[in-house]
Amino acid sequence: DISEYSYVVVGSGLLGAVIAERIANQLDQPVLVIEKRDHIGGNCYSATDPTTGIEYHKYGTHIFHTSNEKVWNYVRRFITFNTYQHRVLSCYKNRLYPFPINLATINQFYNRNLKPYEVEDFMASLRQSQLGQRADGGRRDAQPAAGPPTAGAPTNFEEQAMSLLGRDLYEAFFKYYTIKQWQVDPRHLPPAIFNRLPFRTNYDDNYFFDRWQGIPEKGYTHLFERLLANRKIKVLLDTDFFEIRHLLKKDACLVYSGAIDRFFDYKHGKLSWRTLRFEQEIIDKADYQGNSVINFPEAEIPYTRIHEPRHLHPEKEYTGNKTIIFREYSLADQGDNPYYPIASEDNQRLLSLYRKEAAQLKNVFISGRLGDYKYYDMHQTIDRALEIFETCILPQTSTIHVV
Ligand code: UDP
Repeated sequence: DISEYSYVVVGSGLLGAVIAERIANQLDQPVLVIEKRDHIGGNCYSATDPTTGIEYHKYGTHIFHTSNEKVWNYVRRFITFNTYQHRVLSCYKNRLYPFPINLATINQFYNRNLKPYEVEDFMASLRQSQLGQRADGGRRDAQPAAGPPTAGAPTNFEEQAMSLLGRDLYEAFFKYYTIKQWQVDPRHLPPAIFNRLPFRTNYDDNYFFDRWQGIPEKGYTHLFERLLANRKIKVLLDTDFFEIRHLLKKDACLVYSGAIDRFFDYKHGKLSWRTLRFEQEIIDKADYQGNSVINFPEAEIPYTRIHEPRHLHPEKEYTGNKTIIFREYSLADQGDNPYYPIASEDNQRLLSLYRKEAAQLKNVFISGRLGDYKYYDMHQTIDRALEIFETCILPQTSTIHVV
């Protein structure tokens, strides 16, 4: 009977699954997990493709990476990770470059053999000549450029990228990719989105800065099965929380990981989101592109990347002669499948109205990428989940026990 649960978790993605695990395993309390989809795991969900036997990520390639020791130790209590390290190539004018930008990218792009200690001067001289070219009447871009590296700290994505890379590398690898991904002028995006990626003046081509990295050996879904394994956790799939909300215990502790505006019935208006669409193709070759992800930063190509999940598991022997690939397209979300929060001022204003409402609710915790409307990586979501459990849920329970 669902009305008996004193702990209710909405959504079985990372935030919900970790909090449910803590409630069941640490508090030893029954917990009800309500999941709208027909599977657990949120956008981390993985499955084995029946034709090729390859483990793939239905909602796009997810690489687990963290420098947070607490989070790393926590996840490894449930599963083992393989030794996969994420390396990406970017296809510009039909040539493949290491990406994000490192010394190999710069040297290949400019046909040089610069040493690490020569990069800074080289980039400075490029920026100088590019400023000169613009004074001569501008090239390519008729709009006045947001200027590197003149006045003040960069205030947007384009300024941030150009101050580090100069115009040519920015336009080749970032500008049009970002327009395809976000469908806004990169000058209207915050520098933080650019700062997700490293820029290196050595030959390190790892996609992440982090200390630990890998893919669950048995796939992400296995991680969720392990998190939710306690018999005290009851998962209801294919269930819309808003349809059964009235049946739940009135004073239950509620953890909600869906979109925050939906929780309040959009009363202040709708937050906007980007979503992704994946076009799947089975290819009659053992290996299609030789890497798990290749980016396509040019405006003429409609997709942003091609994923080939067989490369995510170098430890597995996939013996078949077929591979599966996914072309990724980015589009505005109509409210069904949100992936990326959009960091505009309007959205931030709306968000703070919803946050104020949420802060007034007793025993209701709204968080996760959708609940906080934040571009969290997986490890950040786990960190949030542990923090909510430890600072909000656990203390309340001990008080109840004492009383
Ligand atoms: N980006 C880009 N070119 C690329 C890859 C990324 O311009 O080839 C930009 C884009 O704006 C993107 C941001 O860098 O939103 C962060 O990239 P990341 O790979 O972290 O995005 P995610 O994997 O979360 O989609």
